[in-house]
Amino acid sequence: MSTMTLVRDDEFQQHLTPELHPESPNRLQAIDKAFLNSSLDDSVKQLSPRAASEDDIASVHKPTYIEDLEKDSRIAIEQNRIVQIDPDTFMSPRSYDLAKLAVGAGMVAIDSVLDTDAKSSFVSIRPPGHHALVDKAMGFCLFNNIAVAARYAQKKAGLKRVLIIDWDVHHGNGTQDIFYNDPSVCFISFHQYPFWPPDSGWFTEDGVGDGKGRNINIPMPAGTGDRGYIDAWKRIVEPIAMDFKPELILLSAGYDAHQLDPLGQQRISTKGFAMLTQRLLNLANLNDAKLVCFLEGGYNVKSLSESAVITMSVLSSDVKGLDVPDNVLESKSIIAATRSGILPDRSQTNVDERIAEVAKHFARYWPSLKSGAS
Ligand SMILES: [Zn+2]
Repeated sequence: MSTMTLVRDDEFQQHLTPELHPESPNRLQAIDKAFLNSSLDDSVKQLSPRAASEDDIASVHKPTYIEDLEKDSRIAIEQNRIVQIDPDTFMSPRSYDLAKLAVGAGMVAIDSVLDTDAKSSFVSIRPPGHHALVDKAMGFCLFNNIAVAARYAQKKAGLKRVLIIDWDVHHGNGTQDIFYNDPSVCFISFHQYPFWPPDSGWFTEDGVGDGKGRNINIPMPAGTGDRGYIDAWKRIVEPIAMDFKPELILLSAGYDAHQLDPLGQQRISTKGFAMLTQRLLNLANLNDAKLVCFLEGGYNVKSLSESAVITMSVLSSDVKGLDVPDNVLESKSIIAATRSGILPDRSQTNVDERIAEVAKHFARYWPSLKSGAS
């Protein structure tokens, strides 16, 4: 019996971007290689994705947007070239089909945790999804993979409370936008702020209507290290999750807040990602909720692949509690990366004050935050 599934496919490397574009096929090649070098191959059940249908995708995206992407795809195919659809976002001849396959990979992962004993799943996909809006591609993203998966899980199992956590260094603006007025999906995004997208992700963007208070932005100053992220997790994510009582937890697992990442300025170490994952697993265990992680960003192939594999390593170990077991940190491919201590903050802005400010703002919506706010 496997406690964890991994949904992957070599095909995702056929989504091509221009030379030197950070979101390159090498990213998944590196994760595959690190996975094979780890000892996880025996304990993780690998699954192949199926393509999502246009109807599945229309649970989140406007049909006219889906048609427009298909038209762009036809141009890419007929002219056999890479088509630019946004300043940062591109489609190659196979991209439309692979974007549907990426969405479907998330649905396969949802099936695996809802229908079997698997407690968690990691979805290793590209293109990523968390910037995709209802009717607009942006930031390397075509379809919002995690949002469609949330809708699919709600429909399949009648779930009333889905928690989405996003630790990618960029604000998950697409996911925020999709669920902004929806009380059934609580969205918590950590991100460097200010950063990209511009003017996006301040904590006063906290939802509308019935969704008020259920969109939680944690804007972390540039230079925040493991220490600040773990503290924000303890002081904000854990109390809110205990009040919300999620039936399913989804993670936008971007690794571009790693200290080695070329796009972000944050200082999470590989060990820091192990510690955050252990806390995530603990939340899932406390709520008796299954957990699915969706690959988003991460542009240094070494730190990306080590951090993605350490996430899988923690999840497949399925150890209770808050401490990462030594044997997980000593997984053979990533031993050097996890020997460091946790990285301190090196920020111009006081990280503790920022965390306290966010906790105070949300204490009006979440009773458990009140005791922790200062
Ligand atoms: Zn990112």
